Formats: sequence, structure tokens, C-alpha cells
Amino acid sequence: MKFAITSKGDSKSNTLMHKMRTYLGDFDLQYDEDQPDLVISVGGDGTLLYAFHRYKSRLSKTAFIGVHTGHLGFYADWVPDEIEKLVIAIAKTPYQIVEYPLLEVIIRHNDGGKEARYLALNECTVKAIEGSLVMDVEIRGQNFETFRGDGLCISTPSGSTAYNKALGGAILHPSIRAIQVAEMASINNRVFRTIGSPLVLPEHHTCLLKPVNDVDFQITIDHLTLLHKDVKSIQCRVSKETIRFARFRPFPFWNRVRDSFVGS
Ligand code: NAP
Ligand code: MN
Repeated sequence: MKFAITSKGDSKSNTLMHKMRTYLGDFDLQYDEDQPDLVISVGGDGTLLYAFHRYKSRLSKTAFIGVHTGHLGFYADWVPDEIEKLVIAIAKTPYQIVEYPLLEVIIRHNDGGKEARYLALNECTVKAIEGSLVMDVEIRGQNFETFRGDGLCISTPSGSTAYNKALGGAILHPSIRAIQVAEMASINNRVFRTIGSPLVLPEHHTCLLKPVNDVDFQITIDHLTLLHKDVKSIQCRVSKETIRFARFRPFPFWNRVRDSFVGS
């Protein structure tokens, strides 16, 4: 089995990365940064997001595992004290794979050029460059509402504990293949009206955003911020691809939620 390690870059994470690399080498596992079967992320959730985007072209062949060195680490199950145990588990035990849904975002432009396709592990957000975001929102091919406000956040189940949670969205279990659309400060009065609640869409129910006036947007995909000009539409749905996590011991999602947000 070939492995790669991604570090947050601070000295604690780097030390841990080097240690793990040496230990795994002692078990005759091969370090391969380009074609790993297993990617170990050492740091926080941001590090795992980075690792996901680094290896997104080979998701069906790669399993991820997170070790956290201080920050929240919602995606990271292992703490530094446990790395000897983890290394032995990686070297000796066949591991289970847990798959989480991803969000597919396709951005089309008015000039008819090539569409841009992205995969998000947490979410996509759409904001105006200036002033309010005004978007027609279509769900499953039907007009749903015209949104006016700060922005929209379309998240995955595992991303529902990130930005989405701060917007009052629900936490979705990642066994539910769905996406969630949450509003950022919508304008609601006699003239403008939006649903006002987060929406959970099942697989195949596409959410399509169509610009009303402005056609330039600030779009985020996880930790990445992009500027898209002359946008015709932004299409969001559950992706056919999934992210695979290697599980060496059970760590149920709700325990992870409790540990991260309620405390123990
Ligand atoms: P960051 O500013 O360091 O991330 C913000 C916080 O979100 C960090 O504590 C991070 O944990 C945590 N986080 C990331 N993914 C999570 C998840 N799936 N569940 C629970 N917590 C999660 O930036 P970053 O580390 O590059 O992460 C990018 C993410 O930040 C975006 O995808 C977005 O979800 C989130 N964000 C949140 C808000 C908000 O809540 N108002 C605003 C902007 C962006 P670590 O410290 O372990 O990295
Ligand atoms: Mn971070």
C-alpha cells in the first residue's frame, strides 16, 4: 500500500508527519505523493480540505484519514498521542471505508465557453461582488424564488457542521445523500420574499441559480475563493463521486458532533 501525508505546515504537524512517514516506512509501506492509496492529513479540517482538493482526481482510489494537531478537527479522528497505534493499525489491519457525499457545482458562462466544474467537500457559497446578491433559484427545473440578500450556501452533509451551521442550517448525517441550501441574511418584506428556511434536497434534485442583474460573483468552494464573471448559471447537486475515509475504529458521526460542539 502506498501512502502520502499532508501537513498543515506548523512545526507540530510537520514533526508528526515526519515521524509517521518514518514509522510507516519501517513497516515497508511506500511513500508516494502522486498516487497514494491512503492520504493522511495532519493538522485540522482546513488541512483535510486541502488534501481532498489535492487528490480530487483520484477519489475512487484514495482513502483519507485525519490526525488533528490542535484545532477543531471535525474530519480528523486521531490525536498525536495515538499515532503509534494508528501506524500499527494502518500497517496490520484491513480497514473499513466510509463514504461521504460530495457537492458538484457547474458554472456556465454567457459567452458559451467551457463550463467550470468543481467538487466541494464542505460547501459552495455565492456572494455578489458589490451590493446584494440577486438570484433566481430554480429547484428541479421549476422556479422557486428570487433570492435577495448577502448570499447562498450550498453544503454537503459533512459540511453541514461548518459554514452551514453558522447560518442556522441543520446538521445532516452523511449517510443521507443530500445537499442543503441555506440563506445568508435574505431581504424579506412586503416586496421581497424568500422561503427563509434551509432546504434539504435529495439526490437528483438540482438547485440552479440564475443571475437577475449582476453577472459577476464571488464563489467559494470549501477554502478556495474564486471570481467568476459573466455567469449564466450555477448548478448544484449531489455528486456521483464520494470521498472515502479509512476507518480503523468506530467513531460515529453524532459522537464527533457532540465532541466538537457540545463538549464531553
Ligand atoms: P478556517 O477559517 O480555519 O475554518 C473555520 C473553522 O471551520 C475552523 O475551525 C475549521 O476547523 C472548521 N471547519 C472546517 N470544516 C468543518 C466541518 N466540516 N465541520 C466543522 N467544522 C469545520 O478555514 P479552513 O480551515 O480553510 O476551512 C474552510 C471552511 O471554513 C469553509 O469550508 C467553511 O465551511 C468554513 N467557514 C465558516 C464560516 C462561518 O462559520 N461563519 C465562514 C467562512 C468559512 P479547523 O480549525 O480544524 O481547520
Ligand atoms: Mn482551519
